Parts: sequence; C-alpha cells; structure tokens
Amino acid sequence: MLTNSPIINAYAEKTPSSGAMADRARSLFPSAITHDSRHTSPYAIYVDKAEGSRKWDIDGNVYVDYFGGHGALLLGHCNDQVEQAVAAALGAGTHFGSSHPLEVDWATAVQRLMPSAERVRFTASGTEATHMAMRLARAHTGKDRIMRFRTHFHGWHDHMAFGVSNHFDGTPTPGVLANVSEQVHLLDPGDLDLVAAALAQDTDVAALILEPTGGSWGMIPLPPGFLQGLREVTARHGVLLIFDEVVTGFRVHPGGAQGLHAIKPDLTTVAKILAGGLPGGAVVGRADVLDHLDFQAAADKGFEKVHHPGTFNANPVSAAAGATTLGIIADTDACDRANAFGANLRQRLNQLFADRSIAWAAYGSHSGFHVYMNASGTQIDPLDFDPLARPYQDLKAKPPAQLAKLRLGLLINGVDIMGSGGGVISATHDEADLDHTVDAFAAALAMLQAEEPVATL
Ligand code: PMP
Repeated sequence: MLTNSPIINAYAEKTPSSGAMADRARSLFPSAITHDSRHTSPYAIYVDKAEGSRKWDIDGNVYVDYFGGHGALLLGHCNDQVEQAVAAALGAGTHFGSSHPLEVDWATAVQRLMPSAERVRFTASGTEATHMAMRLARAHTGKDRIMRFRTHFHGWHDHMAFGVSNHFDGTPTPGVLANVSEQVHLLDPGDLDLVAAALAQDTDVAALILEPTGGSWGMIPLPPGFLQGLREVTARHGVLLIFDEVVTGFRVHPGGAQGLHAIKPDLTTVAKILAGGLPGGAVVGRADVLDHLDFQAAADKGFEKVHHPGTFNANPVSAAAGATTLGIIADTDACDRANAFGANLRQRLNQLFADRSIAWAAYGSHSGFHVYMNASGTQIDPLDFDPLARPYQDLKAKPPAQLAKLRLGLLINGVDIMGSGGGVISATHDEADLDHTVDAFAAALAMLQAEEPVATL
C-alpha cells in the first residue's frame, strides 16, 4: 500500500467520495475490489456514469477511459443503437429458459465476421469459453494435454491459472490441482522451432491455445510468420489450433486476428466485444469438433456427447447487445478508427518520452497500447523501440511503485489506464482525447519524477 507522498495526497484530495466508498467496501470484498485488475493502491476510483470515451467518478471527476470495460467496449460507452437494442430486450424479458430469435441473430453476426465459426456455442464468459474449447479438443482428439505459451492469458480456470504473471515453471498457483497443471505443456512464446520440437516429442497434446497478437493482447508480441507456422505445425501433428480472440476478436479487425492474417484456426474463443459490453462468451469453430456437443451427431457417430449446461448461455439481453455491436462493426470503420487512434497515441507518447529524455516506450498494435517502463535500465530509443528484441520478462517487469504512481498521476490528470500500464481504445476516442492524454502523461511524469527515479536516455 502506497502512503504519504504528494501524488497519494493529491489523489486522496481529488477523490474523497471514492476513498469513503472504499472504506465501506473493505469490510465486504477482499482488497475492497471485485476483479484483481482493478486493484489500485491506496484505493480505486468508484465510477457511476460513462459516455463514449469518458467516464465520471462519484466525486464528479471525468476521465478519458482506456480500461474500456476490460476491452469489451470497442464502440465506447453507451452507444445509442446498442442501448436501444438492450432496452428492447430488457422490456421483452431477460430469460425465457427457451431458445429465442436473438441468439440466432447473434450467432449469424458472429459467422458473418468470422467464417471459421461453422458452429457456435455461447457461454457466459471468456473463461468458460476457453474451458469448453479445451474440453472439446480433448473429446475430439482423444488426447489429454494442452499446450500454451508463458504470459498468454486465457481466463482463470485451473488450466490457465499459472505461467501468466508468475509460476512460469508450470507449478500450480494456490488452489489449483497439481495433476491439472501437469496436463499443461508450457512453452516460451514466439519460438516456432521450440513448438515444433515440443510437438514432435509430446504426442499427447490435444490443442495449442494462444493469444494471436501475443500475451496480454500484444504486450509480449509474436514474430511475423509465427501464426502461419503454428497453423502448419499443429495440422501436421493432428493438434487443434485454438485462437483465443477474447480481446482481439472484432477489435484488431472485424474478423479478429484470424481475419487480419487470413488464418483459419480449428476453434476460436470469443467474449468481451462479442457481447457488446454485457456478459457473454462463445467457443466457435469446426463443425466436426462442435459436433461433440450435438445430440444427434453423438448418436450417429457413436460417441458420448460433451455435456454443456449454463444458465446464462446466450441470454437475450447480451444477445441483443452483441448482435447490434457486431452489426455496427461489420458495417462501419469502427475497428479502423480505433486502430488509427492507437497508432497516433503510441507515436505521440513516444515523442513525449523522447522530448523528456525518458527511456520508456509506448508500443503495441491496433487499438491497444503498453508502456515499457524499462525496469532493466536498457538503452532504448523511444522513437525506435522494438519489443520483439526484448525478453518477455523485461517487457512484463514494471517497477511496482512507479507503475502505481503513474496510474495515480494519470487519474489525477483525468486519464484511466489499466493496472498493467497500458490500455485499450474505442472508436469514440477523438483528437481532444488524444491531446488530453498526452498532456496528462506529461503532467503525471513530472509528478512521478519528483518522487521516483525514472529511467532516462
Ligand atoms: N482470454 C483472454 C485473452 C482474455 O483477455 C480474457 C479476459 N481478460 C479471458 C480469456 C477471460 O475472459 P473473461 O474475463 O470473460 O472470463
């Protein structure tokens, strides 16, 4: 917990109502929060209103928002068309316990953007989607192990709860069964030869799952040609290739990373933008693999069906928000606009770092950005930074006190980024947001440099 510094004091002065609300929350929630990524020291802001690219806390402060509903809001907050669709769905009933037309519209919208989605199964979250994808892969291949990459995040169920931010040796984190973690084959990211060698040696791999723009949507980027190489080597070994497009789906391109790179994975997991800012997820992909969920296919082909209930699968309100959002993404330049803002923001921040002689870099791809905070004191040029040349440990390492104070300094200056030191952009972020964000970084850096040693050029 950070205490007693001008940045903390300025934050506390600006957000007294959030401070008081956090005091109440402390006796209700562990760490006073409801999602680990919202952990903020000394306490998080409490928000009760949002519109477009901005949100307001309960003290009336306004922020340019780069949390973006954890990536779910490509169209920004409170898009009119999505709101109208949600209001209509709410008025008609929130749960019929029946099949309903909106789920058909929703899946049709997915298939239109992602042709690899020969079949769709909705879930209530991205975590559920990756869990089901693994189960389908095992049922389909008759093999047990799941291969995945260090730093790639796929939700919080047992198979995915290590090797992302810690436990890179594959040992389980607290509460996770060792005999589950033993069934996960962890590899360093980005090395095709390593994957080929691992698949040649480990013949019990059902699927390889990855974030297709790299760990944490590009914080740890992948080299050019890597995805094509994976497609080839997994097919050669009869291993299903699963793109986890929970973040990249309908963001980096209307068709996700697979649309951008023209690669057809066997299965894809989607969530976030899929459900237009409401809860929802899906596993989509090859019909013969999703046949393992099909009563008739199981009877015809003589296998035992994979069981899949889920009270909120394809709930009509999420379906309305999702189908409307995906329709807008298909018919407008929403992805392009967010991507263009991302490129401008990264360039402007790097110019700021260079002007201030700060050895940091803003990098990333599409509508995301990450700040390299140079924990290793490496010689870099912010205007020519190549994250592929840096080891993943260095890209992930952020000096904790600096990162915490950078976030607070940005909040004080009206910008909310994620706790990982980056953020996501919506199609509603505009020139005024861009200027405001660069000014906020300049002011926050000045505050930070007065308190902490920051790497300089
Ligand atoms: N996969 C990826 C790539 C994610 O970023 C996330 C969530 N940030 C998930 C899966 C899990 O999704 P959810 O939070 O909806 O369970």
